[in-house]
Amino acid sequence: MTLQSFGVIGLAVMGENIALNVERNGFPIAVYNRSREKTDAFMAQRAPGRNVKAAFTLEEFVASLERPRKILVMVQAGKPVDAVIQQLKPLLEEGDIIIDGGNSWFEDTERRTQELEPTGLRYIGMGVSGGEEGALNGPSLMPGGTKSSYEYLSPIFNKIAAQVDDGPCVTYIGPGGSGHYVKMVHNGIEYGDMQLIAEAYDLLKNIGGLSAAQLHEVFAEWNTTDELNSFLIEITANIFPYVDPETKIPLVDLIVDAAGQKGTGRWTVQTALELGVAIPTITAAVNSRIISSIRDERIAASKQLTGPVPNKFKDTRTFVNMVRDALYCSKICSYAQGMALISTASTTYNWGLNLGEMARIWKGGCIIRAGFLNKIKKAFDQNPTLPNLLLAPEFKQTILDRQAAWREIIVTAAKTGIPVPAFSASLDYFDSYRRERLPQNLTQAQRDYFGAHTYKRTDKDGTFHTEWVPITEAKK
Ligand code: NAP
Repeated sequence: MTLQSFGVIGLAVMGENIALNVERNGFPIAVYNRSREKTDAFMAQRAPGRNVKAAFTLEEFVASLERPRKILVMVQAGKPVDAVIQQLKPLLEEGDIIIDGGNSWFEDTERRTQELEPTGLRYIGMGVSGGEEGALNGPSLMPGGTKSSYEYLSPIFNKIAAQVDDGPCVTYIGPGGSGHYVKMVHNGIEYGDMQLIAEAYDLLKNIGGLSAAQLHEVFAEWNTTDELNSFLIEITANIFPYVDPETKIPLVDLIVDAAGQKGTGRWTVQTALELGVAIPTITAAVNSRIISSIRDERIAASKQLTGPVPNKFKDTRTFVNMVRDALYCSKICSYAQGMALISTASTTYNWGLNLGEMARIWKGGCIIRAGFLNKIKKAFDQNPTLPNLLLAPEFKQTILDRQAAWREIIVTAAKTGIPVPAFSASLDYFDSYRRERLPQNLTQAQRDYFGAHTYKRTDKDGTFHTEWVPITEAKK
């Protein structure tokens, strides 16, 4: 029997498309799905003419693969991944490699690696970005695990990944759960980008007074610029002219304003809090989805809580350019936060991540692909220990040049009652980061006042506690 080079378990959207991508690149595949219907549908509709073997039991699947076996698991994250591993384990032999390509929580990946590698099996936790289209035509891949296992798989990864001017969108991320960690932060950055674009749209529509056709033109024009050219701006431009065939109204205006989420944005915020890294723009994006989802409550509140009525801005061209500048400055802050989080995680977990490489592999295939990532790569290539992207010469100058417009937009939004939580969080991040002295001297005084937490002084070394006057008086 001829054996297949690569196996895929899980034939939902991601699994079936990545399986076809692997086969198209010259690696005969075997496929398996827990329920038979998906396998039958795949074999009938997408596999004809291709080198694919379907298996209906895991025993049959494992027996159809050449050794060492290379098995990509693309099932729902969480317990299903553990279930598949437990079923596979007794069937595999030393040196076989399991790759988890789902959105797994990085600590689960660490645990699975520690459980499997001492048994002689090899384990790779790999983030995959790009959705259905990316999986089929070239995703961005973020594989973490033992380097020798990655090197063994890299000829396949290099072929199936998206290809950009400086190579395939894959690199060895680092050990253990680092690949899934980086994918999680990628998704957090994606939340930030989407919220910033949503705020720009709100401002352009409700203060700028732009029609769907004008919104299309503005986003299409922004997509031609060096700074904003990106997949998300491109699809945003394409959304506005889409008219609902039934009502003849732009479809976007008919969509319920309550955003869903699957959890990677929330995980990003949780881990940032645990590592003590401020990511206010990404946090604002997660909070915005949460508030959007209490729609009935918001509708009821809108009848009772009034605010200013938005006035149309007189000079539309100037306003559009100011929103563009505010969007770009905020985006720089959002990426600065995401990169700072990856950098701290790398130090904390001893992963040795290369931040410039992270920006490079996001240039193609994934949802946050953008021309702007070239600048981030360049910044970290020039200075791999850069403490924050805001200090990279190019970004620093951009923000200094555009901050007046950014501030003006946030003032205008506040005066007209349009919420811009991610724009504002970004400006607050910038202002907090750049200020030599913050008001947390008062916070320290308060902590010492009520809890004797002590404080340090600016004028001498040591740790101090004061019996603050009113407490002393109360004790008398
Ligand atoms: P999904 O909806 O997350 O999962 C469905 C697949 O999981 C089906 O094949 C299902 O098998 C299988 N499954 C569920 N529980 C199982 C269990 N206990 N044992 C064995 N198989 C089980 O699929 P997806 O959207 O293709 O995503 C796959 C992974 O990629 C997920 O981790 C997802 O978060 C990640 N991801 C998704 C996207 C995207 O755009 N969709 C993008 C990047 C990453 P049955 O058919 O038998 O139910």
